[in-house]
Amino acid sequence: MMLYWLPFHAVALLTAWAIPSIGVATPLARDNHGAKCPEGDPDLTKLGEKLSSTGKIYCPGSTEFEEASTRWSILDAPKVNVVVVPGTENDVVETVKFANQKNLPFLAYNGVHGAITTLGKMDHGIEIYMRQLSSVKVSQDGETVKIGGGTISKDVTDQLWAAGKQSVTGTCECVSYLGPALGGGHGWLQGHHGLVADQLVSANIVLADGSLKTIDASSDLWWAVKGAGHNFGIVTSVTAKIYDIQHQDWAIDTLVFSGEKVEAVYQAANQHLLKNGTQPVDLINWSYWLNDPTADPNNPIILFYIIQEGVQKVDPVYTKTFHDIGPLSADSIGGSYNDLAGWTNIATTSPPCQKAGLANPRFPIYLQGYNVPAQKKAYDVFASAIRGSSAFNNSIFMFEGYSTEGVQAIDSKSSAFAFRGENLLAAPLITYVPTGQELEDKAATLGNRLRDILHQASGLKEMGVYVNYAYGDETPEQWYGSERWRQDRLRLLKKKYDPENRFGFYGPIA
Ligand SMILES: Cc1cc2nc3c(=O)[nH]c(=O)nc-3n(C[C@H](O)[C@H](O)[C@H](O)COP(=O)(O)OP(=O)(O)OC[C@H]3O[C@@H](n4cnc5c(N)ncnc54)[C@H](O)[C@@H]3O)c2cc1C
Repeated sequence: MMLYWLPFHAVALLTAWAIPSIGVATPLARDNHGAKCPEGDPDLTKLGEKLSSTGKIYCPGSTEFEEASTRWSILDAPKVNVVVVPGTENDVVETVKFANQKNLPFLAYNGVHGAITTLGKMDHGIEIYMRQLSSVKVSQDGETVKIGGGTISKDVTDQLWAAGKQSVTGTCECVSYLGPALGGGHGWLQGHHGLVADQLVSANIVLADGSLKTIDASSDLWWAVKGAGHNFGIVTSVTAKIYDIQHQDWAIDTLVFSGEKVEAVYQAANQHLLKNGTQPVDLINWSYWLNDPTADPNNPIILFYIIQEGVQKVDPVYTKTFHDIGPLSADSIGGSYNDLAGWTNIATTSPPCQKAGLANPRFPIYLQGYNVPAQKKAYDVFASAIRGSSAFNNSIFMFEGYSTEGVQAIDSKSSAFAFRGENLLAAPLITYVPTGQELEDKAATLGNRLRDILHQASGLKEMGVYVNYAYGDETPEQWYGSERWRQDRLRLLKKKYDPENRFGFYGPIA
């Protein structure tokens, strides 16, 4: 094996001819691969010859490599020696087969917002950057859409909207369509239709042995792909259900509270919005705790969103109690579905969509409702940890109260996603500029402490963790459900479809 492919630590030990020094911009096998790789590398030449005319290969030292391999969170990020950008679904097949022949690890990179620390176990190998497999094609009968495996959520939403259609996608515009879907996938429309994964009708998937299969509900793998999909293959395209646009109009009330209102705010949220898991299908509540010195110079604020579908102003039935609590500010806006990401700060231009060289671990937990004393306790711990000049002062604590009717209407046993019974997703996101192990440990201690406060008060025996937000120190039972049958089924399928555990970097089953 060429020195080129060795893990970084091994290369550094062996010679100064380390990966970053191969920064020469020379074409590889063919000019049209856009390659910036060392000339004459027989392995890369061989791979280049197998790719389609639009496939590309990038090596370290080139701008293209940097752009394709830089991630949203740099904490325990995977390390790769080479980037392959497939131009066709078959290019993924060829790349996986090549990696297997050379016994090299490989990993799909899509919207690059995956932040689970298990990804850090990849210390060398091939990045398969999905971005060129981006397409959205509505079927002639208008019932389904074919979506390329590297399509970003915003492209799906925008192109469906232009066709008078919509489907459940992740809410954040810059995250891929498939990243969320493979772990379940929460979105604005889940109250109507279920999770993103519930929309899938069929999928083209490259399995661990490099074969490309089209699977649907008739395959035993279908169950696993919908919730534990990262563990089983690279999805090169899917067909998903779409719907006529039901409501053009959407509205949001944005209320900013000082921290001392934390108990009153979440008491009201339980009573008037969540209502013991019966939150109306047209209603969503989201909140963030974060520092905003212009609103409160001393403590994190509570930024509380009440979002309603089908109206230009949120019904006062839902908002009045919150206004009566006495927010620092309150704002009502009406618009359309396409405004939601901008209103909630997750549009392509918003801060969470930028790659800013930060560590962004989250510590998620599914909950039934807000435990008011626990919200107060968590707020106090969070406030004292992120106040002033703390290294964590850009952190946020997220509470996502989507409507759940559509999610709960689907049989819980029908997919590997295990948490259909929960009404809320909470997660501290401890953001910081990495400076070393000490700060990393401090962030993990804080994140886990905050999550534990909510878990202990919840009365839930097991902690349910959304794998797409997971930190990485959780167990497979916490990511995929603690029922024995779920774990057994996942392990059996893993043994059948990926016995070598080639898809073992993202929330590994075993
Ligand atoms: C700002 C922000 C907003 C978010 N909003 C939402 C949301 O609204 N709803 C929600 O459910 N989640 C949301 N998430 C979480 C999101 O689901 C995960 O971060 C997810 O991993 C992102 O996928 P990605 O493709 O962008 O990231 P990547 O890091 O590129 O992918 C993550 C992992 O998914 C796998 N993968 C990606 N594409 C493929 C593919 N085509 N085939 C096989 N495996 C693949 C790979 O294992 C990869 O390591 C959000 C995250 C952030 C940071």
